[in-house]
Amino acid sequence: MTERIVTMLDQATIAKRVAELGAQITAEYKDRHLVVIIILKGSFVFAADLTRAIDLPLRVDFLGVRSYGEGTESSGVVQITQDLSRPIADEDVLIVEDIVDTGLTIAHLMDLLRTRQPRSVKVCSLLHKPARARVVVPIDYLGFVIEDKFVVGYGLDFAERYRNLPYIGVVERM
Ligand code: 5GP
Repeated sequence: MTERIVTMLDQATIAKRVAELGAQITAEYKDRHLVVIIILKGSFVFAADLTRAIDLPLRVDFLGVRSYGEGTESSGVVQITQDLSRPIADEDVLIVEDIVDTGLTIAHLMDLLRTRQPRSVKVCSLLHKPARARVVVPIDYLGFVIEDKFVVGYGLDFAERYRNLPYIGVVERM
């Protein structure tokens, strides 16, 4: 069986939206210092572009997360595989996610990070699949709403493959 990737969001479309998100975040956090928390692994490409579109003093930190579940289905049970390197107490925190699907992962991470008493926590997600939402989570900055398809590329994987695709697409089997 061969696979091909059907483009859903091309490079130019993503770049334009990421620039807009960066400008919006820059304007809303004006004169503040930001801690950008990049959720690994899927957000690394998006975060690399987004942080360069934010014109503010900021530091980045990484949170490694694994969602237990079968195949492409999230179970909502989240394992932290790598914790932050520094405290976030009294900081303005921006969580950067690749995709909010059921919402269970981000809901869990918000609960976890709030216990560390940051000054504020907001969420920026490149993608959102509202059709599959199981919990309502506020996405303060959202790139694109997409239909209920399993997407890869621009950091997102299928069994660890396709993260390096410069666009977002859907895997089709032929
Ligand atoms: P949630 O907990 O919101 O259901 O899922 C969040 C995580 O599941 C995402 O951070 C991502 O790692 C994974 N995920 C959800 N939908 C997709 C998808 O369409 N493609 C890929 N590659 N991962 C997804």
